[in-house]
Amino acid sequence: MIFEDESLALLEAALPVLATGFSSLPPSQTAPLDRAAMLAVLELAATRLHENYPYFHPLYAGQMLKPPHPIARAAYALAMWINPNNHALDGGRVSSQMEIEAVHALASMVGWSTHLGHLTSGGTFANLEALWIAGQLAPGKTILASEQAHYTHHRICGVLQLAFDSVAVDIRGRMSLAALEARLQQGDVGTVVVTLGTTALGAIDPLPQILALCEKYGFRIHVDAAYGGYFTLASNLGPEAIAAYEALAQVDSIVIDPHKHGLQPYGCGCVLFQDPSVGRFYKHNSPYTYFTSNELHLGEITLECSRAGAAAVALWATQRLLPLTRSGEFAGMLESCHAAAAELYRRLNASPYFIAPINPQLDIVVWAIRGANVEESSVHARAIFDAAARKDLHLALVQLPCEFFPLDTWPASHSANPEALNAKHVTCLRSVLMKPEHFAWLNAIWDRLQSAAEEVLKR
Ligand SMILES: *Cc1c(COP(=O)(O)O)cnc(C)c1O
Repeated sequence: MIFEDESLALLEAALPVLATGFSSLPPSQTAPLDRAAMLAVLELAATRLHENYPYFHPLYAGQMLKPPHPIARAAYALAMWINPNNHALDGGRVSSQMEIEAVHALASMVGWSTHLGHLTSGGTFANLEALWIAGQLAPGKTILASEQAHYTHHRICGVLQLAFDSVAVDIRGRMSLAALEARLQQGDVGTVVVTLGTTALGAIDPLPQILALCEKYGFRIHVDAAYGGYFTLASNLGPEAIAAYEALAQVDSIVIDPHKHGLQPYGCGCVLFQDPSVGRFYKHNSPYTYFTSNELHLGEITLECSRAGAAAVALWATQRLLPLTRSGEFAGMLESCHAAAAELYRRLNASPYFIAPINPQLDIVVWAIRGANVEESSVHARAIFDAAARKDLHLALVQLPCEFFPLDTWPASHSANPEALNAKHVTCLRSVLMKPEHFAWLNAIWDRLQSAAEEVLKR
C-alpha cells in the first residue's frame, strides 16, 4: 500500500492499555455499530479524498505541507477515545500536564529556563496572542513586520486595532536594516516582528542586528518562527542563520508551529513568552501570582477556550520518540531538508533553463525560467508547473519582484526599459523540501523537472 499502515497495529495494541485504566466501570457501549452503513460512508469519504494532491508523498514538493509522523497520528487517535479538552484541568487532567511538558521542551529548545506558553490552534492564533500582549504593554504604539512577513500580521493588527507598518526587504527577502532604522527614527514603534523563516522564501531576518537596534531605540521583539523555529536544532545552516538562531533566547516572544515542521497534524501552534508575568493580561478569575507557580492552569493563560487535548498528547509522544536535541534524529531530519534545498539550488543554477536567485537559508527554493523577457518567463513557469504535475511532481508558483534577480536575466526586458524592469514581478516556481525523504528523492524530482522543462521550452 502507498500509505504507511504499520501504525494501525500499534494503535490496536495501545488501545487496550488505555482501557485498563477504566476497567472498574460498567460497560457503556449500548448498541453495536452499524458497520455496513459506516463502511459505506467511509468508503465514500475515502473516494472523495482522491481529489487531493498527494501531500504525503515526496514527489509533492510544492507548498508547506507534510504528513504527521506515525507516532503523532497514532497518539492523536488514541487520545480521541478520551477526547480531553485542555481548556482547563477538569477537562484535560493528564493531557494538560503533557501540554505543559511539551511546551517546556519547546522553551528549552529556544534556550529559555523560565517562560509562559501554551499550544494554540495554529500559528495565526499564536501570533495574535503575542501581538495582543505586545499591544497591552505598549498601547497606541505601532507594530512593524517586513514585506515578506506572514500576511496575517497585518490582519491581526486590524483585529486588535493596533497600528501596523511594513518594512521593506533586501534582495534576499530579509527585513532591510536600513529601512527598519529609518522607520524607527520616526518614532512610535512598540514592537518589531522578526520572521525566522519567511513563508514564501524561508528567509531569516537579521535578528542579531535588530537586537542591536533595539538597544538604541527600545522596542519589543516578537519572533514569528511558525515555520522556521525548529531549525534552531540544525547544525548545517549558513552563518547568518546560525547567528540568528543563537540570538533567539534574547527576544520577548516566539511562535513555533508544531504542525509546520514538528511532524504534527493540523491544529497545533505554540506561543512562548520569556516573561511569565504577562500571564496577568489573560487573567479572568485568578490572582496574578498564580502564573509563576508550577501549578499552571492552562485555561487561565489562553485566549481560546476549548483546545484539543489530543494535540498535546500527539506532540508529547512525538517529542518522547524524537527528542528536540541538537544532533539527534529529529535535528537530522531538518538538516537533510536544508541539504536537499541546497542541492536543488546548485542544480538549478548549473542548468541552462533556470535561475535561482537566492541561496536557500532553510528548505525553500524559488527559481525563474530563463527567457528573453519577463512575460515569457512567467508563461513558461506556469507551463512547467502543469507539465511537472502530469509527471506526478507537484511544485508551487510564487510571484517575485524582478529586482531579486540579476538585471540581465531577461535581456529583452532589460534593454527595452531597465527602470521599469525593477518594478515588475515575475512568476516563479517554488519548492518546499520539508520532508525528511526529500533528499533521497532529489534525483527523482530533478529528472521530472528537467523533462518538464524540456517539454515546454523545446516545443
Ligand atoms: C504558516 C505561518 C503562519 C501562520 O500559521 P498557521 O498555523 O497557518 O495559522 C505565520 N507565520 C509564518 C512565518 C508561517 O509560516
